[in-house]
Amino acid sequence: MSRPRAQSRATGLLLQPNLPICQGDLPLDRYEAAFRPYAEEYLALPDRTPETVLPWLDRYVTPAIDHFGDSLLLLAHYYMGGEIVKLVERYGGAVADSYVLALQALRQPEKKVIVESAVHFMAETVAILAADDQAVWITNPRAGCTMEMMAKDWMVDPIATQLHDRYGDDMATVAYMNTSGRLKALAGRTGGAVCTSSNAHHIVGSIREQASRIFFVPDEHLGRNTAHRLGIDQDRIVVLPQPTTLPPDFDISDCPGGLSSLDGAEMIIWGGYCGVHTVFTTAQVAWWHEHGWEVHVHPECPLDVVLAADGAGSTGYLWKLVEEAPEGARLAIGTEGHFVQNARTFAATRGVEVRHLTETPGTTTAGCGCATMSRNDPPHLAGMLDLLRRGEAPDSNRVLAGDQVSEDTGTRQRLSEEHRASLVYDARLALDRMITITEASRQ
Ligand code: SF4
Repeated sequence: MSRPRAQSRATGLLLQPNLPICQGDLPLDRYEAAFRPYAEEYLALPDRTPETVLPWLDRYVTPAIDHFGDSLLLLAHYYMGGEIVKLVERYGGAVADSYVLALQALRQPEKKVIVESAVHFMAETVAILAADDQAVWITNPRAGCTMEMMAKDWMVDPIATQLHDRYGDDMATVAYMNTSGRLKALAGRTGGAVCTSSNAHHIVGSIREQASRIFFVPDEHLGRNTAHRLGIDQDRIVVLPQPTTLPPDFDISDCPGGLSSLDGAEMIIWGGYCGVHTVFTTAQVAWWHEHGWEVHVHPECPLDVVLAADGAGSTGYLWKLVEEAPEGARLAIGTEGHFVQNARTFAATRGVEVRHLTETPGTTTAGCGCATMSRNDPPHLAGMLDLLRRGEAPDSNRVLAGDQVSEDTGTRQRLSEEHRASLVYDARLALDRMITITEASRQ
């Protein structure tokens, strides 16, 4: 496998004295017992500005950093509230999109204790690619991705089995990064690959050279957008019913258009979606255009919104756009709310205006943030690092490949060592194919 080049970069966001530092507070009963003392202290701080929060955090984070030294790596996704993004950077960590995050253990073998503030599938992907002596921890195991939750392996596997039985090697599964390790392993076993929103067209395009039919999981909209970008006729796409409506004994002959549509399909797409990215409309795009703004959106948005916008791309693409926009530029962005808030704060320092795409008259849907990701708040970061230093970190925060996590209780079921090794082998095949194809596309 070629050595992946993707590196994290500083976001450029600053911790300013007058910024409120708190994210939405979680009720105390949503903290596991081991984390509750940190939450109680945090919530009791007189005002949560950097002047009070930073000394409190330093009491826990600095001894952990001194204890673990260079073997510690803190990671956060761009969708985390701006405060965690800035705190992770303050303590020497890295903030990135899911592709760059996934590669961090692989790229930095000297990092032995990896602590992630993001959703579970991101931490699990780091764990799949980690060496045996690298341990991955998530600050709150209840932080799940709702799109990933719409495609649990027990939902997808029975349908994937029927499809693979019918089409054999002529069909490969492409799993979006927003899937569990179990689905990434399915992609690896079937000659497919993992993809992200930045490389989906390269991955699907390349895998189609070996298999004429792609089973794409779990995002309907990224699937449709990728098909459009590759010139695949929308009539040669079958989108499965929404996962919430799928009966457990669903037979593929009950797909829209029946077996004849499936037989003629070049892409069969799981019917999952992200609630955060499907609130956008073409009317909102038109409003910003009429007022002289450029519009850019994430490809988890519906195809008509993507086609109406001036551009569409991954989280990395959108951040670069803001970084490189000339002074005076005005950008309306359709993606996760915390990201847009972070971008707005950063852009304002450069004379660039950024707004959330939903900030139009008459829009009743809020430009919401990823609420589940935000469950990784400052008390979880402080507690995780302090508990790790004391050797008392709860096992439920340790992330191993193949874990089945309850986003409700934060508990996890582990695979046996033998099954985990097999899953890691298959999932790495799918991730390695993604990395190889992506790096080749940059030559
Ligand atoms: S924004 Fe949507 S797709 Fe992204 S992590 Fe959150 S729920 Fe998942």
